[in-house]
Amino acid sequence: MQAAAAAGLSTITARPAAAATSSRTFVPAVVVGTGYGAAVTALRLGEAGVQTVMLEMGRLWNEPGPDGRVFCAMTAPDRRSMWFKRRTEAPLSTILWLDVVNRDIDLYPGVLDRVNLGQMSVYVGRGVGGGSLVNGGMAVTPSRAYFEEVLPGVDADEMYATYFPRANAMLGVNNIPPTYFETSEYYQFARVSRAHAGRAGFRTVFIPNVYDFGYMAREEAGEVPKSGLGGEVIYGNNHGKRSLDKSYLPAAVGTGRVTIQTMRRVRDIRREPDGTYALTIEEIAESGAVAATHEIGCRYLFLGAGSLGSTELLLRARETGTLPDLSPALGTGWGTNGNVMTARANHIWDPTGCKQSGLPSLAIDDWNNPARPVFAEIAPMPAGIETWISLYLAITKNPERGTFTYDRASGKFGLRWTRDQNQPSVAAARSLFDEINRVNATVYRSDLFGDTRQFADDFCYHPLGGCVLGRATDGYGRVNGYRNLYVNDGALIPGSIGVNPFVTITALAERNIARILATDVR
Ligand SMILES: Cc1cc2nc3c(=O)[nH]c(=O)nc-3n(C[C@H](O)[C@H](O)[C@H](O)COP(=O)(O)OP(=O)(O)OC[C@H]3O[C@@H](n4cnc5c(N)ncnc54)[C@H](O)[C@@H]3O)c2cc1C
Repeated sequence: MQAAAAAGLSTITARPAAAATSSRTFVPAVVVGTGYGAAVTALRLGEAGVQTVMLEMGRLWNEPGPDGRVFCAMTAPDRRSMWFKRRTEAPLSTILWLDVVNRDIDLYPGVLDRVNLGQMSVYVGRGVGGGSLVNGGMAVTPSRAYFEEVLPGVDADEMYATYFPRANAMLGVNNIPPTYFETSEYYQFARVSRAHAGRAGFRTVFIPNVYDFGYMAREEAGEVPKSGLGGEVIYGNNHGKRSLDKSYLPAAVGTGRVTIQTMRRVRDIRREPDGTYALTIEEIAESGAVAATHEIGCRYLFLGAGSLGSTELLLRARETGTLPDLSPALGTGWGTNGNVMTARANHIWDPTGCKQSGLPSLAIDDWNNPARPVFAEIAPMPAGIETWISLYLAITKNPERGTFTYDRASGKFGLRWTRDQNQPSVAAARSLFDEINRVNATVYRSDLFGDTRQFADDFCYHPLGGCVLGRATDGYGRVNGYRNLYVNDGALIPGSIGVNPFVTITALAERNIARILATDVR
């Protein structure tokens, strides 16, 4: 397993179409998706000797494009950047209200998707590794008190003694060396924000990351190609980041029992009379067209397609009658993790730097404020020029929840969520940043989010919920109403976890699959 993990990408094989699936294929276990929950599930199934097929709608990101890089640069996005879009849809879409950020691109199975669901848009990763390919790598274990508040049915002793440490170790979480942080010009943007927060009486904390800070040191020394220090992040990192295709997934494939099939979108799930499951799979061509449709059968079906993906599959099954006994709680309990972005304009004497690392390493931690908890990561703006902008992703405690919908007539998946449901997040973040602006005599930027809004309340990076643990499933992700059907990803978490979520998703998946292997799988 170690050797396979060390070998990284080369051990993951995308099966060619002809060999992938036939209408008669049957395997003991299928895992849908290759993100955090899916990767944990597949590794532990493989170790337990269970033949497992993983189905991923995105591609395997291991082949360099014409420019010699696997992923495109954030400042020069091409078709590799986004999932079947004609134009990029970056979170920061304008500068000085000018449409200078987004680019026209060719339709292609790119790595970042923005799923537009009415008044809320959700960013997700596509490809082998799911969100780990595009995310900022921030690997934060939640405070125990808040974890217990959010998931009271989960044994916190066990989580904090066993599963959080296991997740952190497997993911390769490490910390930025403080002396490096204090001296590198690539983190000036964060030091400026720290000083401003400190003047207003707010404390900052370092955020662990899965980006290899040893690699970053060599980037800084000019010994290796720049990735994090080259401003790479949301469209993929060419080096340095220990995404799942460098940790859990090669380990899973290395068991010899797990295979990954790419460009395979699971469309429908039904249960056969003998209690096994049958999945209809669309084979997606590079053009986006459905090249073929296959079926695969399995005894154990694990959904790891993420909050949106897993919920959509189950809702469609309930509403079209292929799994009619699914819980009415399915689709409910969705939240944004209280995400809201904002930006401040600094004084001319407070430059944030032309050189900015793409990986955030510091957050303003005011979560213990009883009136309005806020955990605001100090985000880079690696534009390559001085902008004097301080950017933040605030995580707030927003009690509002959305509900996913499925319209049988049109086959459309939707979300009931209105813009005003984000107001608790905006109010909390505003209260903190108003104070920082007041003390530092600075103002908000209102030119970055497509119109004049100071708070980007229309998108999120942390979709959570839809198949909530203990409501749509039992306490371990077993889907209510159906044996041998499981959800094991971010869909289980009820809308909020107070910090960046992937460590929690990973640890919870480790806990659930340990129990399921011990009791359900023979
Ligand atoms: C830009 C960005 C930055 C982020 N930064 C951070 C961060 O720094 N720290 C942090 O903790 N979190 C971060 N996140 C969030 C984090 O990445 C997600 O919470 C996490 O990836 C969710 O894990 P998951 O296992 O639930 O599903 P995902 O990682 O979303 O994986 C689901 C996978 O299933 C596939 N899939 C979906 N539907 C189907 C289907 N029908 N058939 C086949 N395959 C399917 C998808 O293509 C995807 O690969 C960020 C997210 C984004 C988008």
